[in-house]
Amino acid sequence: MSELAFVATCDLVAMVRGRALPRSALLSGGIGVGWVPADLALTAFGGIAEPNPFGALGDLRLVPDISTEVLLPPAAAGGDPLHLFLATQTSLDGTPWECDPRATLQGAIAKLESTSGLSVMASFEHEFTLCGIDGSALVRSPFGLGALRSAEPFGTQLLAALSVAGYEIENWLPEYGAGQFEITLKPVGALMAADRAIILREIVRDVARANSLRASFAPLPSTSSVSNGVHVHLSLWRDGLPVTYQPGADGDISPIAANAFAGILEHAESLLVWTAPSQTSFLRLKPHRWSSGSICIAKQNREALLRICPVVGFGRGDPAQSFNVEYRAADATANPWLVLAGIIQAMVDGLERKCVLPKVLFGEVEGFGRQLPASLNEAIAAFKLDSAAASWFAPNLVATHLGIRAAESEAMVGLNDDEKCARYSSVY
Ligand code: GLU
Ligand code: MG
Repeated sequence: MSELAFVATCDLVAMVRGRALPRSALLSGGIGVGWVPADLALTAFGGIAEPNPFGALGDLRLVPDISTEVLLPPAAAGGDPLHLFLATQTSLDGTPWECDPRATLQGAIAKLESTSGLSVMASFEHEFTLCGIDGSALVRSPFGLGALRSAEPFGTQLLAALSVAGYEIENWLPEYGAGQFEITLKPVGALMAADRAIILREIVRDVARANSLRASFAPLPSTSSVSNGVHVHLSLWRDGLPVTYQPGADGDISPIAANAFAGILEHAESLLVWTAPSQTSFLRLKPHRWSSGSICIAKQNREALLRICPVVGFGRGDPAQSFNVEYRAADATANPWLVLAGIIQAMVDGLERKCVLPKVLFGEVEGFGRQLPASLNEAIAAFKLDSAAASWFAPNLVATHLGIRAAESEAMVGLNDDEKCARYSSVY
C-alpha cells in the first residue's frame, strides 16, 4: 500500500484536523486537499458553533508546507506510520485565507521584521498528564526517578519519535503532579516553534495511545490536581544576533526588548482570549499554582505572567544566546500559531509606541502588578475594548473565535468546576 499522508490545520480549539491521501498524490498534485470555511467554527466538543460567519458556503484548500512533514510512528501495533503535514488554508486561487491561523502568525512575523528588523526565537514548554500507568492509579513522585521509570517505554519512545522528527529536546522530566510530565524543545524561529508545538502534542498522544495510555494536556485535570501549563519562551534577534540581553539593565533586559515585553503586558488581558481560551483555563490562572498569578514581569518568579529565565554564570555558553523571557499564561487549549501571533503583534505595538516596561519584580507577586481577569468572559470583555488587539486578527476570525467561546460556555451551564475539568480532560 502506498504511504499515507495527513494534511492538517490546527483550529481555534487547538485540534488538528484535515484529510488523508496517498503521499505520492499529495506531492505530485501541488494543490493540497479540499476544506470548508465553517470547519473553523468547530468547538472542542465536536459541533459547529452557530451562528458563524460562513454557514454552508465556500471552499478552501489545505495546502501543505512540505517542510513541516513528520513521520508519526504507528498508532497501534501492526499499523503503519503516517506522514503528517501542516497546511495553510487558502482560497481556490492559492492565496492564504484571511482567517487562517498559520497565515495570521506569518503576517505577525512579517510585520515585526518589516517594522523593526527583529525576529523572535521561541520554544513551547508542555506539561501533560499521563493516565493509565500502573493500572489506573496516577504516580505521584515529583521529579522522581521512579516516576520517570514508571512511564517506560513511553518516555524512550517519545524521545525517539521527536528525534526522528528532527526536534531537539531540551528536557524530559517527571513533573510535580500525579502522572504529570514535561517535555521541552530547544528554541527555533517563531513559525517553526508553533508548528512543532502542534505536532509535539500529537506525537505525545500517539505514543501514549500505542502504549495503551492516554496523554491529557487539559489545563486542569480536576480542581484538586496540579495544572498543565504551556510556557512560551521568547527572545528577540536581529541579523542572527541575540538582542534581548543587557547585563546591568533592569532585569538584564535590553531597551528594545523592554519595549516589546511592555507591549505584551499592556495587552495581557486581550492576549488571554487567545492563549487561555477554554472554560477551565482561568481555573489554572490563579496564585499559588505556579502558573500565572499577576500581570507583571519578574526575575525568576514562577507566578508572574512574564518570567525572566535565569542565565547560568558558569560553563561555556554565552548568556546572551540563551537569555529569554517566558510567557506563562498559555495552555494547550490554545492554538500555538495564534498564541505567537498575538504575542508578536503585542511586541510590535510595544516597539512602535516605545511602551515602558514596568519595574521588574524581584520577589513575591502578592500586591504587585495587575490582577489577571477572573474568567474568560472578563478577558473577552477587555479584548472587546482593545481596538489594537482586535485589529491583529481578521474580523471573521475574531467573530468565529468568540462564537466558539460562547458555545462552549453554554455547553458548560449547570456544571461545577470539576465537571468542567472532566469535560475538557476528555478531549484534550
Ligand atoms: N504546572 C504549572 C503551570 O500550570 C507550571 C509549573 C512550572 O513548571 O513552573 O503552569
Ligand atoms: Mg513545568
